[in-house]
Amino acid sequence: GSTIGILGGGQLGRMMAVAATQLGYRCIGYSPEGDNVAAEVCEDFFTNRWDDQAALAAFAARCDVVTWEFENVPVATARAFPSDKIFPDPKALETAQDRLNEKRFIEGLGGKPAAYAKIDSQSDLEAATDRLGAPGIVKTRRDGYDGKGQWRIMSGRDAAALKLPDVPAIYEGFVEFDAEFSVILVRAQDGEIRFWDSSRNVHESGVLAASYLPAGEAVEPQVEQARKLAGQVADALGYVGVLTLEFFATHEGPIFNEMAPRVHNSGHWTIEGAATSQFENHIRAVAGLPLGDTRTTANAVDMRNIIGRDIEAAHAFLADADTHLHDYGKSEVREGRKMGHLTRLTRA
Ligand code: ATP
Ligand code: MG
Ligand code: MG
Repeated sequence: GSTIGILGGGQLGRMMAVAATQLGYRCIGYSPEGDNVAAEVCEDFFTNRWDDQAALAAFAARCDVVTWEFENVPVATARAFPSDKIFPDPKALETAQDRLNEKRFIEGLGGKPAAYAKIDSQSDLEAATDRLGAPGIVKTRRDGYDGKGQWRIMSGRDAAALKLPDVPAIYEGFVEFDAEFSVILVRAQDGEIRFWDSSRNVHESGVLAASYLPAGEAVEPQVEQARKLAGQVADALGYVGVLTLEFFATHEGPIFNEMAPRVHNSGHWTIEGAATSQFENHIRAVAGLPLGDTRTTANAVDMRNIIGRDIEAAHAFLADADTHLHDYGKSEVREGRKMGHLTRLTRA
């Protein structure tokens, strides 16, 4: 078997490495110091800085192909590998790491994001809330995840009182959505695209709490249009691997929220609930293998994240015949931290 390099060391990398191992690959991880829970399931793990050229070269020499599980891998790091050795193309990171670029890119393909404005100063913010109204959300353009780097603005007074972060940001009008959903696809090296069913996603405090299938009547009629956009995004980026787009289902159709150029928390149900999981198909795509079937094999799926609390209590669910426990093996509980998840299936 050959060796797959994974940039990033979180639970997504851990689940990716488990899938790769099943297919006969060895995995080597690379991520700076931290709670790298992927390391336990990798044959070797480099804990070096993203800009450590010598370490990157040593890592590259050990890998046949390199991919990532973390969307904030610096573009320069991803570009340190020959273009036929890293998938997806680092262009995807470049596009998705800046919310302003990402929205302009989506508009260029005919997609519809929430109304937004570029914010570089307090006066920009006041002009934006005048133009787009409130409520809305200030988001840093870079480095946000799990709702970090976001501030809700309920009124012009909130806008005036907000101490803007000293980094480029955007203001987004608040979308009155009926539901949230995601489109997760895999694109192979020959350009073939397959989609998993879209789940309805529920967020709490900006963090994904649960994903449900069937997604229901607010979501289902909007999936086709959202898939069309997601497919265009994948083609435009020459994307290879799993790609996720998040949407708001509204009366005016699907509104694009953001994209993640990677496997996604809202696709964890595919491990037990689909013929081929997002992790396995990501590995298949980057390794140049044929894609697996993405069809849903359960009648219903209920995926819940275990966030900011000890996972021990969730072990009680092991007694439930239809529930699958995933413990990410994190060394300590922190507020808002994803510790594991539970997937409950209603069998077909
Ligand atoms: P992720 O962990 O998904 O990368 P993130 O930090 O990038 O999260 P967003 O996806 O931008 O955050 O926002 C998190 C959640 O906040 C959304 O899923 C949605 O529930 C809510 N939200 C964000 N922007 C808007 C908006 N413009 N209108 C309404 N709700 C919003
Ligand atoms: Mg995000
Ligand atoms: Mg999001």
